[in-house]
Amino acid sequence: MSAGVARQRVEQSFRVALVQDARTNLREAERWACAIRDASVQQALRKDGVKNSEVRRPCRVMILVNPLSGRGQALQLFTNHLQGMLTEAAVPYTLVITEHQNHARELVKKADLSQWDALVIMSGDGLLFEVINGLMERDDWQEAIQTPLGILPGGSGNALAASVHHYSQSPPAWNEELLLSCGFMLCKGLVGSLDLVSIHLASKQRVFSFLSLAWGFVADVDIESEKYRHVGAIRFLMGTLVRLASLRVYQGRLAYLPINQKPNLPSTPQRPSLLETPCDGKIRAPLDSLLPGLEQPVPESWTVVKAEDFVLVLAIYQSHLAEDLWAVPDATADDGIIHLFYVTAGISRPALLRLFLAMEKGAHLACGCPYLVYEKVQALRLEPISREGVITVDGETVEYGPVQAQIHPGLARLIYG
Ligand code: ADP
Ligand code: MG
Repeated sequence: MSAGVARQRVEQSFRVALVQDARTNLREAERWACAIRDASVQQALRKDGVKNSEVRRPCRVMILVNPLSGRGQALQLFTNHLQGMLTEAAVPYTLVITEHQNHARELVKKADLSQWDALVIMSGDGLLFEVINGLMERDDWQEAIQTPLGILPGGSGNALAASVHHYSQSPPAWNEELLLSCGFMLCKGLVGSLDLVSIHLASKQRVFSFLSLAWGFVADVDIESEKYRHVGAIRFLMGTLVRLASLRVYQGRLAYLPINQKPNLPSTPQRPSLLETPCDGKIRAPLDSLLPGLEQPVPESWTVVKAEDFVLVLAIYQSHLAEDLWAVPDATADDGIIHLFYVTAGISRPALLRLFLAMEKGAHLACGCPYLVYEKVQALRLEPISREGVITVDGETVEYGPVQAQIHPGLARLIYG
């Protein structure tokens, strides 16, 4: 499939009539089908250079479905659009339907991962957040997080699915078309690296994030628009319009370590909390070498933002914030960069709306808006001063208070390309 052409299903029928015996002919036909599948994967691998590897074959895939995600149709979408595709591509899978929040997280935390060659989620970004954190909570996290992860858009917030579709250089797609594109990637089974960001919350809890950390306007829209989830992805546009009407300013302090700045490491890097250091002394999950304790000042090599009045702060590490919000034009899944945006107070409602409308085409940075700042960073700290507010990680609400984060380039592996 060449870049710039919408994906289409074309059926070609071949008949094998080698000998009289039907079973021998069937075996020969299967041999051909297998060879064609292998050749197409090998071709894609060559095209992608050394970056990608392949899911082991024959593979065993666990597909986790959140039946309530999006408009509550994830299971139906799977049956109607993907089941046949996976069968034709000879991708054996086991479907697991989640029963409650954190079900997937608990399941992958305890799963025998030697049984699975890939963990795929069919939901929005929230279910993948559960899976990644479940993997990182395991004693064998270093190995566990190497399990190839896949995403099939079934939610209302499908930012990672939109991002991987974009990385595959295909023209923009929505809804079922996006789902088919992601299903096709799963069938191809190419695997690349995925950056994760380690985020420390005030209570010393640490979470791992693959998409975004948001405060202010974006976080409020994400959470407030939950009530419009029955309308699907358009819920974010509705939420944006509602929030614009009651636009507010959020006070806080923001500091970051620019991407090209030598870290000037903190004297006491952020050690894993008690929870993460069991009595056998084995350290769970990677050390955040760029971060001092949250109660300590940021190192001198960091930039401290002068402004304290913000409309939004958004740290994002994929290209898309939602299916139709292309936030970072040049982001890749493994660029090792936290793309930090902030909008300072003083921006008018029409100017803010213009930014979000421009983002549909990735053109917001070209708007020349003096209130919008964009920095490429390795680490950041945000300390809200406003008493009340919402902070989201990958679209999920986390505890409100000071947070800091650092990138871990290529820590996880993702099926895409
Ligand atoms: P959406 O994009 O539609 O919001 P998500 O994948 O983000 O879809 O899921 C929304 C929330 O539902 C997440 O917080 C996730 O942890 C949670 N969740 C997952 N499975 C279930 C379930 N079976 N019942 C209720 N909540 C669930
Ligand atoms: Mg969500």
